[in-house]
Amino acid sequence: MSNLNLYENMLSNNVKNIEISGIRKFFNKVSKYEDVVSLTIGQPDFNVPEKIKESMIDSINQNKTTYTSNAGIEELRLEISKYLKEMKIDYSKEDICITVGGSEGLMSVFTAIINEGDKVLIPTPAYPAYESIVKLLGGEIINYPLNSDFSIDFEKLKELIKNQKPKVMVVSYPSNPTGAVLTKEQNDKLHDILKDEKTIIISDEMYSSICFEKEYNSICQYKDIKDKTILVGGFSKMFCMTGLRVGFVCAKPSFMSSIMKVHQYNVSCAPSIAQWGAAEGLKSCMDDVEFMKDKFKERGEYVYSRLKKLGFEVYKPKGAFYIFPSIKKYSENSEEFSERLLKEAKVAVVPGSAFGDGGEGYIRISYAYSMDQLKKALDRMEEWLKSEF
Ligand code: PLP
Repeated sequence: MSNLNLYENMLSNNVKNIEISGIRKFFNKVSKYEDVVSLTIGQPDFNVPEKIKESMIDSINQNKTTYTSNAGIEELRLEISKYLKEMKIDYSKEDICITVGGSEGLMSVFTAIINEGDKVLIPTPAYPAYESIVKLLGGEIINYPLNSDFSIDFEKLKELIKNQKPKVMVVSYPSNPTGAVLTKEQNDKLHDILKDEKTIIISDEMYSSICFEKEYNSICQYKDIKDKTILVGGFSKMFCMTGLRVGFVCAKPSFMSSIMKVHQYNVSCAPSIAQWGAAEGLKSCMDDVEFMKDKFKERGEYVYSRLKKLGFEVYKPKGAFYIFPSIKKYSENSEEFSERLLKEAKVAVVPGSAFGDGGEGYIRISYAYSMDQLKKALDRMEEWLKSEF
């Protein structure tokens, strides 16, 4: 046996069972072609707000470059607590741990909770990290279906909870990849279903700052289920600081002490300078956040109306910066469709299948790109559809 095979056989089985993200796979393909308009990733095209940049430069000059406490700087945890209170979500600074982006937040939370064989309810379609993390930890994934507007199919959910007794349920709104949010009534229903169950709720609210509805609704707003609700959030999208890697986890002490252990041994703390930047952002850059949200809303409406005119069946996004049109009338296979769109029309999107079984038959378009790029991509799609279908 060659050394290569020997070492391959020694790798973790759980790691062998997961693949690199389908989003990245398609993003990486783009560079193989010339003159492609890429609408693949969730990278806002705005710069980090100036005051955040200035505060980070000041922090470097003041040598705030040491480890912070494991939970993160108190100033930022306090600002997060205030930010959440404005959305009627109540966590004190002691309930908050600053993480290395939302990604580390998710990984630390799941690692703290999941034992081999534990059942985890995950929506489909959904952000791919949930399934991969649960597989990595040896948990069992149970997908729950969504309605045609990507809200939760409550009857099926009730059935799954009754029959499967899952340990954890993941809720993810505003949604990547669908742009859906839940209404107050839908959250009330979800709360009714979960309130007497033992199931732990992990709510990924990475796009909390990009919600186009007047009111922000979240399952974390219900005080009587606070003990079993964990919120994961972050600043990658809010302040366009994807590379600065700051996120957060909110949970009551029964979970937080375990989450902190994982977080501590994994990363010690989030990057100090970026933490100071995020704290400044929450103090003085919420107008920038509002400005960007309005721009995303405008772009979402533009893409939605163009897709509608082209004849796509598509749900109007209510948050985040993604739209998820059905391509079923053109193809059963979203990977093949996206591949052709890339090669023939020079437009890159992500196949819906990258977001799980429920994503097949759809494509995800990110509209975190300039209007010029969006217009160019949609013009190309229009031409291509006319000539090919
Ligand atoms: N959760 C969702 C729904 C996301 O879309 C993302 C990133 O795209 C993350 C979590 C991870 O966020 P971060 O880039 O801060 O690690």
